Amino acid sequence: DVKSSGRHGYRFYDERMDVDVAHDLMIRTDILEALTTGQLFLVYQPIVNLKTGGTEGAEALIRWNHPKKGLMNPASFIPLLEKSELIVPLTLWVLRQACYDLKHALLPLKPDFKLSVNVSGKATEDEMVRHEVTELMQRYEIPLNCLHVELTETSLMENLGTCTRTLQAWNDAGADIWVDDFGTGYSSLNYLHQLPINGLKIDRSFVEGMDDPASLRIVETIINLASALHLEIVAEGIETAEQHETLKRLGSHCGQGYLFSRPIPLEEFKARLVAEVERANETS
Ligand code: C2E
Ligand code: MG
Ligand code: MG
Ligand code: MG
Repeated sequence: DVKSSGRHGYRFYDERMDVDVAHDLMIRTDILEALTTGQLFLVYQPIVNLKTGGTEGAEALIRWNHPKKGLMNPASFIPLLEKSELIVPLTLWVLRQACYDLKHALLPLKPDFKLSVNVSGKATEDEMVRHEVTELMQRYEIPLNCLHVELTETSLMENLGTCTRTLQAWNDAGADIWVDDFGTGYSSLNYLHQLPINGLKIDRSFVEGMDDPASLRIVETIINLASALHLEIVAEGIETAEQHETLKRLGSHCGQGYLFSRPIPLEEFKARLVAEVERANETS
């Protein structure tokens, strides 16, 4: 309306926008300090074999313990950092921390542990980011296919040029490439064979809606598509035993979700993995 947009199309700030602008500014000015003072940390959510219930690996998810704002989820700062070069130092931090944890905490417990890391498509433009994955794979002697890099379908499509080059380099270095939130982005499937892609993550929204026949058929179709293209599948956001059963029946090998575990701190995740390995040894 005229009041809020002004006669010449100017927009006047209302209180809500002030809050947004202040928040955005705070994020941008605080992130570099946060990176060097231990305010950022990774939590780990198990990725489970749906048939055996065993842990195949985990997804690393970032958290920010901000001195004034408290604990923040990635949704309140990642999209903002993606709009500027600040996504680069954050991406480097995540890759380094995740690979360090993989090498020193996770692979020693399970030699074929698969760790998934989220990377913004925008960050693939950066030369340092491009080199970092190869560098870390070599420095930590990470086995082939144990580091998984996830990019959302949307961010892949928006950065197709740089993604093609960077993902090829990462794949050559022995990392696997996964499409995150599959089914929520553009509908062109052409990129699936243009890029070196190893797996698809079925978006939580489809899993959540599976009691609706249309959503169920979409999930079924994604699983069949993956199988036809020799891609692996992980279903996201499994919260109920029914969803677990259905996905297993449809042929999804792996899944993650609150049914199995929320994302948890590294120490807690390690304890869980140790207990699982011990149980397996007892029964064998
Ligand atoms: P994502 O990669 O699709 O991660 C899955 C999100 O779903 C996580 O939210 C996870 O906590 C949540 N989730 C897992 N299981 C369930 C479930 O059963 N029910 C429900 N309701 N939610 C579940 P989170 O940790 O808030 O992360 C949100 C998004 O932020 C991620 O979505 C990813 O796109 C992005 N992100 C997280 N960490 C990083 C990072 O280190 N770098 C970048 N670039 N993006 C990140
Ligand atoms: Mg992800
Ligand atoms: Mg996802
Ligand atoms: Mg998602």
